[in-house]
Amino acid sequence: MLALTHDDLLTPGERFALELLVDLSAVLRCEGEGDVVRVRAVGEPRAASAAELRARRWGMEVLDAEVRIEKSLLRFVLDVAGAEIEQRSSVADRFGRVPSRETASVRASVDREPIVSEAACALATAVRAAAGRRLFRVVDPWPNGRRWAVSFTHDLDVVEWWPVFTALRLAELLRHGEIGRVARVAASAVASTGRPVVWKAVAELLATEKQYDVRSTWFVLCDRPTLATARAGDLTYRPDSHLARRIFDALAAAGHEIGLHGSFATSDDHARFDSQRTLVRAITGVLPAGVRQHYLRMRAATTPRGMVSAGFEYDSTYGFADRNGFRLGTADVLPLWDAERQEPVGLDEAPFIWMDRALSKYQHVESPRAWIDDALSLAERCRAVEGLWVGIWHPNLAPALGFPDAPQAYAHLVGELARGDAHVAPLGELVSWRRDRRALRARVAPNGEHVTFVADSSAHPTAFTIRDADGRVHPAALAG
Ligand SMILES: [Zn+2]
Repeated sequence: MLALTHDDLLTPGERFALELLVDLSAVLRCEGEGDVVRVRAVGEPRAASAAELRARRWGMEVLDAEVRIEKSLLRFVLDVAGAEIEQRSSVADRFGRVPSRETASVRASVDREPIVSEAACALATAVRAAAGRRLFRVVDPWPNGRRWAVSFTHDLDVVEWWPVFTALRLAELLRHGEIGRVARVAASAVASTGRPVVWKAVAELLATEKQYDVRSTWFVLCDRPTLATARAGDLTYRPDSHLARRIFDALAAAGHEIGLHGSFATSDDHARFDSQRTLVRAITGVLPAGVRQHYLRMRAATTPRGMVSAGFEYDSTYGFADRNGFRLGTADVLPLWDAERQEPVGLDEAPFIWMDRALSKYQHVESPRAWIDDALSLAERCRAVEGLWVGIWHPNLAPALGFPDAPQAYAHLVGELARGDAHVAPLGELVSWRRDRRALRARVAPNGEHVTFVADSSAHPTAFTIRDADGRVHPAALAG
């Protein structure tokens, strides 16, 4: 158990970074008085490299009943997880995105490591050491006694006019010199003439997930397509078409979550978030809690504000288009930070760690098995920090649409991750649970022994398991 001291004269950003580390550590926070460990920020907020911080035990010092954290670590956390560096960048690629090289994690060469989550694990260890015989309590990181979590997500980019997408993909394969695949795709496409190729691909994917009891999250485009948006690869289908409705109905029937895939325009025209979110409800009957930008087109500094205004609870756009890894340094849900206003955005972020097309589109690796190997190796890193792995698989990755062997590769991935020891759930459920965990506090009775847990009013009292330093489940009263 730990308490934050309030006499450190922290800037709002430093306090945000400190609270983030504490939240990610899963050590239970204490409200009010109590003989618990105090966490204190010290020193100057000078810039420090990841290697330097790691070599210096993350700038943490363990004393009796106190852990001191250097402000240089808080500066680092704010740059990476608070995305201050990229929010201040004025560079944009042709899709209006902040290029990977402008992000703090790539600049610091730590994009393959959940470095902020690792620092948070070190904080948990430090607090445990500083506690000695004092009260120490930690919350189980995920529901049902699971030590890490997995979420499968899908961006529904292709529904109608599939031969156009096959043609585009064939051109890409030719550019990459993938003659063997070109032949297989062409044969498959010809054999599929007149068939509902996209529906078949979606149905196969749903069958795979059903086989492993997986419920996933689907981000769907929901606005009127025009010739211009279709040519740009932006809005390419009518969300109220027969085909789209058939897919939406199947998702609802199988218990999957539907989120909004924000079109290009939403990045700047924030009123569109509201109209597209409302249209999703009109068509599917579900008001989406989550959003992810199509092509990851987002202005890091401002687009999330529009998401909040439209009523979204979480975003899942933070991840890389051209590589896999940890853009915000975290394998977990975290609150987004507004660098210009120096305050939290009011939106949770569920960064995605891996995307099917990152290796294919940008690094010309065309073997789906190689994509899956990368997914599994990153999942192992998420597991090591008791975090959350979020992956994107596009439902249009089917042989007739240009991707031989892809459906089998996805089935392998789902089998590996869903049969393991992770808690698997749609993103919305995980974000909501993590938000409640973050709000959990302990109150120590005057005798120093009796502990009451104060949960957020929306949290279900039995949703959390609290353990002491020896890992024993600790029974205690819970106040709502
Ligand atoms: Zn998309």
